[in-house]
Amino acid sequence: MEEQSIQMNLCSTRKEKPDSDQLEFGKIFTDHMFIMDYSDEKGWHDARITPYEPLRLDPSAMIFHYGQSVFEGLKAYLTSEGKVQLFRPEKNMQRLNRSNNRLCIPPIDEEFALQAIKQLVAVEKDWIPRAEGTSLYIRPFIISTEPYLGVAPSSHYQFIVILSPVGAYYKEGINPVKIAVENQYVRAVLGGTGEAKTGGNYASSLKAQEMVADQGFAQVLWLDGVEKKYIEEVGSMNVFFKINGEVVTPALNGSILEGVTRNSVIKLLKHWNVPIVERKISMEELAKANKDGTLEEAFGAGTAAVISPIGQLTWNDEDFVINHGKTGKIAKRLYDTLTGIQYGKESDPFDWIVEVEEVEQLVR
Ligand SMILES: *Cc1c(COP(=O)(O)O)cnc(C)c1O
Repeated sequence: MEEQSIQMNLCSTRKEKPDSDQLEFGKIFTDHMFIMDYSDEKGWHDARITPYEPLRLDPSAMIFHYGQSVFEGLKAYLTSEGKVQLFRPEKNMQRLNRSNNRLCIPPIDEEFALQAIKQLVAVEKDWIPRAEGTSLYIRPFIISTEPYLGVAPSSHYQFIVILSPVGAYYKEGINPVKIAVENQYVRAVLGGTGEAKTGGNYASSLKAQEMVADQGFAQVLWLDGVEKKYIEEVGSMNVFFKINGEVVTPALNGSILEGVTRNSVIKLLKHWNVPIVERKISMEELAKANKDGTLEEAFGAGTAAVISPIGQLTWNDEDFVINHGKTGKIAKRLYDTLTGIQYGKESDPFDWIVEVEEVEQLVR
């Protein structure tokens, strides 16, 4: 792909920044965004950082009709020394291209896209909130923009990156949630789009979440789409169980989304010599472990919450109370280590951190 430069078109006035202890998730956006266009003739072109504003799209743009789109989610963290850090962002760029491939969207230049993200974050550095546990959420996404109602891959796309200051996920400390095992709806099936980060997977997951929300459940535990027997994910996170001293997570099977956090958890557990296996795990096996007292911990893993302990799992009419409804030792250690690395409080043995330099060094 051709060397591209990023055109800078910055705002003359800046929005007022919110209090960093009153932030919610994804409601406020920074002053600028990154955009790059694609056409079959020109490839990816016209990379620019411009004021954040509504898009102008033709009502027949394909994104509105057939949902050909992909997205990513990562965060920029501010350390106590004022450094700006990203956590394994190259993994997100690789996954974006894997999602692109599944959705018939042309690949992006991963290095250039990461450079664009760094440059945008550097421009918006003052938007990174300072309060404990807060961060600047980064949402890269690609939409199909060709005005055409035929069912085919679009010939035009936009790659856009927006930024949103987000509050601490756990305001009163990391706390376990109640989860309902979902027996009716499924998130993804083998051969479908479960492995890709695409909006359609989320649209189809809303119903199950809505049905359990008023019974006090935070999320659902998704089972496989064929037999509804094997565990896949929890909400929009990957899931881990500690059974009889060994940590188990569902093996990547084609319908599970491969999380960057999942991969990092596995690497850390191996590093600590905690037994960890990736394999199929059924609800029956989990029920048995619960009965004989060997189900020691359960937790979700994803960028937003990092680690989300599961205090109770409800399967049909059976409640499994896990670790007395308290956060387990492994979950706590993983949470502390991952956030410690992200915020620069702990050493980074795997070179996971990518620093964002000052704007002057990025804009040559
Ligand atoms: C994004 C996502 C995850 C978590 O991925 P991370 O890279 O760890 O944030 C897990 N499951 C689903 C369905 C997701 O969309």
